[in-house]
Amino acid sequence: MLAQQFGLIGTVCNDGDGVLIEVQGKSFSINAFIDTLSKDKPTLARIDAIERLKKRHIDHTDPESLKTASGFEVIESSHSNANTGVTADAATCDACLADIFDEHNRRHCYPFTNCTHCGPRLSIIKGIPYDRAQTSMDEFAMCSSCLREYGSPEDRRFHAQPNACPECGPKIWLEDNTGKLVSTAVKKQRYKNPIPDMPIIKAALAIREKAIIAVKGIGGIHLAACACDDDSGVSAVKKLRLKKQRPCKPFAIMVKDIAMAARYCHISDEERTLLASSAAPIVLLEKRKRISSNASKLSADIAPGQTTLGLMLPYSPLHHLLLNVLNKPIVLTSANASNEPQCIDNDHARENLSDIADYFYYIIVLLKIVWMIQ
Ligand SMILES: [Zn+2]
Ligand SMILES: [Zn+2]
Repeated sequence: MLAQQFGLIGTVCNDGDGVLIEVQGKSFSINAFIDTLSKDKPTLARIDAIERLKKRHIDHTDPESLKTASGFEVIESSHSNANTGVTADAATCDACLADIFDEHNRRHCYPFTNCTHCGPRLSIIKGIPYDRAQTSMDEFAMCSSCLREYGSPEDRRFHAQPNACPECGPKIWLEDNTGKLVSTAVKKQRYKNPIPDMPIIKAALAIREKAIIAVKGIGGIHLAACACDDDSGVSAVKKLRLKKQRPCKPFAIMVKDIAMAARYCHISDEERTLLASSAAPIVLLEKRKRISSNASKLSADIAPGQTTLGLMLPYSPLHHLLLNVLNKPIVLTSANASNEPQCIDNDHARENLSDIADYFYYIIVLLKIVWMIQ
């Protein structure tokens, strides 16, 4: 922790105005601490202003003066009026990506992996200050391993409020359009040898077969469909347009990585940086006129008549895992009919999407990956 590097003692907590840090130490150490804090702030932190308030002078030659504090601690948040904002959700960081693709890691294939550098923030918050108890993660008590990370200043999950793992965190499941459970998350040890009953693998297979899947993730529920038509002409994108009553407005696609993006579009350095940023935005890119022979051809219905394509990279472990198994681009769009508000909760999604699915009964299989977080 930075304060300890400068030999400072004191406390830090969230309050309604932001972060309150109380430090004791020599003046030059405190100045250096504040200077470094401004320059090397945590990845997702935004510092709008630093207000300094000198509380009292301490005689450092007198041990009695220092008896009020020892070390540097994170203390309970103070619940004053909220005058501060909350960081936006952030795309999965490289370290968490390495975790989910490492078969020896306890978070191997875990779709809700996050840390202080990435993961949900704004979309899970119920109140300020931003603490686990004020988020939708409060119903998931951390296991001993997660608690150890949460309490270790040297760990990148130190005070990561949505910290979770397969033992203690949210689970995914897959259900069909009648509400019948198709597949549920398997126990941790079985992740080491992925098998086809995993919801993500089943979902990827269904997308390959041109099913439309409702995926509940950061920021609401989205419909996912294969962005590539079959050789026989079967098109999930066409079906999606009918279901959403969206005849021609362009869809955005999500690709596995930059390499897959480059097969379909020209990408400048600036666009590449933007795509890979923690905001994971949809970036409008110039379509390639010709794609390489080993790339699956995109459906002509994605952005009819356009020379550009809206493209994004996976922003949550769930999307990374899905795209990795599928190894093809998907169309990802909000799960609502045109001009209707976006579905954000499971019941709303079931009600609305089941109506649509009834219309397509026997024509299309509608499956859902549903987050447990409400
Ligand atoms: Zn991370
Ligand atoms: Zn855990």
